Amino acid sequence: MKNGTSCPKCHGERILHAPSIADRDRHSVHPLALEVEGLFFHSPVGELEAYVCAACGFTEIYVRDVKALLKHVKG
Ligand SMILES: [Zn+2]
Repeated sequence: MKNGTSCPKCHGERILHAPSIADRDRHSVHPLALEVEGLFFHSPVGELEAYVCAACGFTEIYVRDVKALLKHVKG
């Protein structure tokens, strides 16, 4: 789906892209991101994006900038 392929579940071809996923509580809204050892919790590194099938709702989630994430993760 990210690479222009159809949905692997229903073969739907309309794919929606969400460049950011909001993580919210009663008092704040911020981008959903990974929490990895050695990664500052408030760093924008590791923010997630999603691709959603418009027919069935199947969703793929990716780290938006993998190269930036690898610079901050040990191992
Ligand atoms: Zn689908």
